[in-house]
Amino acid sequence: MIRFLYKIQKLFHFFKLFLAICLCIGLGQKQVWALYEAAPESYYLHQKILNDVEFTENSSIPLKETWQYYPEQFITEPSSVLKSDTVSLPASFKDITGTNQTYGTFVGHFKIPKQFVGRRIAIFIPNQYGAYRLYLNGDFLLRMGKVGKDERSHQTENSPKIAFFVVEKEYFTIAIQASNFNHLHGGLENPMRIGLGSTISRQFQQLMMSIGLVCGAVLGVGIFTLMFSVFQKAIGRGTIRVFVFGIFILFLALHNLFSAPYAYTTFTNISWLWGVRLEYLFTYLAVAFFISYMFLLNRRYLHPVVYGLAMLILSIDMLVTLFTVPEFFQRFAFYSSIISPIVILNFAHGFYLTVKSKEQYSSINLWAVILLCVTFLHDFLLSLNLIESFNLTFISTSFYALLIMFQQAKNYAKHTHYIQQLNHNLFELNRSLDQKVQERTSQLHQLNEQLERQIQIDALTGAFNRRALNTEIQRLFTLTQSQSNSALAFAMLDVDYFKNYNDYYGHLKGDVILQDLVKVIQSALPPSAYVARYGGEEFAIVLHNVPGEVVLNVLQQVLNAVRNSQFEHLNRPDQKQYVTLSMGVAWMDRHHQYADIHELMKAADVQLYAAKAAGRDQYQPYLA
Ligand code: GH3
Ligand code: MG
Ligand code: MG
Repeated sequence: MIRFLYKIQKLFHFFKLFLAICLCIGLGQKQVWALYEAAPESYYLHQKILNDVEFTENSSIPLKETWQYYPEQFITEPSSVLKSDTVSLPASFKDITGTNQTYGTFVGHFKIPKQFVGRRIAIFIPNQYGAYRLYLNGDFLLRMGKVGKDERSHQTENSPKIAFFVVEKEYFTIAIQASNFNHLHGGLENPMRIGLGSTISRQFQQLMMSIGLVCGAVLGVGIFTLMFSVFQKAIGRGTIRVFVFGIFILFLALHNLFSAPYAYTTFTNISWLWGVRLEYLFTYLAVAFFISYMFLLNRRYLHPVVYGLAMLILSIDMLVTLFTVPEFFQRFAFYSSIISPIVILNFAHGFYLTVKSKEQYSSINLWAVILLCVTFLHDFLLSLNLIESFNLTFISTSFYALLIMFQQAKNYAKHTHYIQQLNHNLFELNRSLDQKVQERTSQLHQLNEQLERQIQIDALTGAFNRRALNTEIQRLFTLTQSQSNSALAFAMLDVDYFKNYNDYYGHLKGDVILQDLVKVIQSALPPSAYVARYGGEEFAIVLHNVPGEVVLNVLQQVLNAVRNSQFEHLNRPDQKQYVTLSMGVAWMDRHHQYADIHELMKAADVQLYAAKAAGRDQYQPYLA
């Protein structure tokens, strides 16, 4: 039963088709359109040309499946009378007809998911070579350039476009009239996509953003390199090579902006003609600076003759690009790229020599240049339509610039670290040197002080020596003379019967007694008293600004202290059996003056003799 019904339905379809053919023949094209508009599904299904475009809320899909191509016809609706071929897109005119210099119409029937009926749909059309006009269900929607049946009426224009529309049914028909009179490319060569308007817009913006980001990064590297070379020159270390490299990277960034799928149209208002021109010019400039850089790097990478030839061709290319139309300068570029295999072979030979001679070289740079050359070659083959692929130069040049940035950053970090290390070492060295100098200086000071003390001190007893005494007594004498209420007492001491002591106990014991005596004398005196060894067993005591009666008191205490020490001395001619001292004292102040220190000391000496004469173990004061 079901089968029967299916057959009936099929028959009905045949009937409709038959009717359509009859009407088509009999009534013309308009009526056919009306027929399948009335029952599109069955018409499309029968024709097997319905494309289900099952895009989703967030994804778009390519518009590639089954299209009808009507050669050398500009129509807006499908025609069953006209001759057509079934094709898949993207395809060039050359793939379909054998030549790129032609025109025709592509018609496709599509079914979108039901939930998108009434919502904004978009078709993204990347740049196509030539001109086109797009119709939706027979209504004009969008155009690019001017389609024409001959070279005069045709006008090429390049730019990506997005066609937005709303459909009232799931089914719709798109007709794209396209014309082209360029040898190399033509037709609908780049894949179109369909999706929701918002999705297509977002994807397009993402593409443009990522291109902008990559171009910006490369531009940053270029500016950095250029600034680096300028500042290096400012400090007298610049090389033209780095400068040339910086310019190369700058042009690389501009080349990338203009060669990426018409990204410049998003950033600038430049007409497509100048867009194409600038794309070619920036390519030539980038290539020119790149080969100049390689030439400056080492002659082995580029022989002067090859370099000169390449530069000449590039200059002619630039002039041709500036002053002719795209059809011409593109063809010219194609023919002039014949020099590139020679340049690449020269590079390869140069690299071979570098690697063979085991010279120091940057392997990153080597690989980067190899990558660049391979992708240039790849794109050249692509432009010759010898391989099926997509343009790699944009990716490889961006990658190259980023690789260089990576390398430069690495070198810079290494260099900075090295300089920091050097600075640190220098700082440490300076610091330790400073420390050593400081240590030595303080040692020297200590030694000097020690020496100063030593030359003033008597080695045996530790009291001041004669030399120090002379200086000190002179200083105090002058001071006493100049100050009205100042006083100075000078006492000369001599050990009693010391010769006898030595004779009895020996010199060594005599030395020890001298040392002990100094200790006793010092301990009996106030801290301000000055004790010196005058010579042999004779000592001196100097008291400054001590009143006369106190002086005698103090000296008496010294005599007592020695006496009380009871240092044994059995070899004395008198009754005493211990060591004693005799003293002569001279005293001066404002009222009692001496001419000089010699007079003062002499007076004390005289008094010493007087003390000896008077029986020893006593002092004899003398006032001038
Ligand atoms: P007096 O002074 O009581 O008249 O008798 P004296 O025996 O002490 O005589 P004098 O002062 O002339 O003698 C000095 C002696 O002191 C001579 C020397 O043997 C001794 N003498 C001098 N210098 C030193 C010294 O550095 N060490 C020792 N052990 N004896 C010394
Ligand atoms: Mg003596
Ligand atoms: Mg004596």
